[in-house]
Amino acid sequence: MPNDVLNGIVLRTTDYRESDRIMSVLSKERGLITVTARGCRKPNHRLAAFASQFTYGEMEVNERAGKLQLSSAAVLESFYSIRESYEQLLSASRIANAAERVADRGDPNDDLFLLVYHALSVISYGENDPKDTELCFMAKLLRMEGFAPALTYCVKCGRDLRGEKEVRFSNSLGGSVCERCGSAFLTVSTLSLEALRRMMLIDPGEMRRVRLPENVRRELEPLIYDYAEYVFEFKVKR
Ligand SMILES: [Zn+2]
Repeated sequence: MPNDVLNGIVLRTTDYRESDRIMSVLSKERGLITVTARGCRKPNHRLAAFASQFTYGEMEVNERAGKLQLSSAAVLESFYSIRESYEQLLSASRIANAAERVADRGDPNDDLFLLVYHALSVISYGENDPKDTELCFMAKLLRMEGFAPALTYCVKCGRDLRGEKEVRFSNSLGGSVCERCGSAFLTVSTLSLEALRRMMLIDPGEMRRVRLPENVRRELEPLIYDYAEYVFEFKVKR
């Protein structure tokens, strides 16, 4: 079988046997794939530069017994500076983890690919807080997967909530709820919900502009992850 050329971002790696590495890769052409880089952990191996987390590049793969093996690779972007701070590494890891959970095997998704690419790029080179990029990524991911929460009106009675200072938020009802309809739910400021609404809509290429005030960031992080865990049905490492 001839080799196939694929563009991909390495989301996760697992060492295997003495010198192999198995990679979970988000590819432009085939969605989520698993690729083995044989021998890449030997000293100065030609596949070593590509076979690490967050690397974006062009891979030549061949298929043997239904399994993809990396035969050569060109690194287009290592996003190496992600590793320079713990905060950057943590945010990038959560992005890679969430992308792997929602990506479809064998099914290309240009929007998801671009979103991951831009998010890693901003974490690597941007000057904003990596947490803001991470939360913006999650907000956009929720919308992309069809789980954009209601943010400006009560999901129960339909009342416009934009004039309020604080409202309630319900994961099971899918967003904002007025005080009268949901006094048992989590309290959240409409300022934070407006920030979330803007992050969902921002162009991926503009993510480096996101700068959340500290109180909004503190309020949105648990809200976004609780909601994402509820709708995606996976646990996020916190
Ligand atoms: Zn209501």
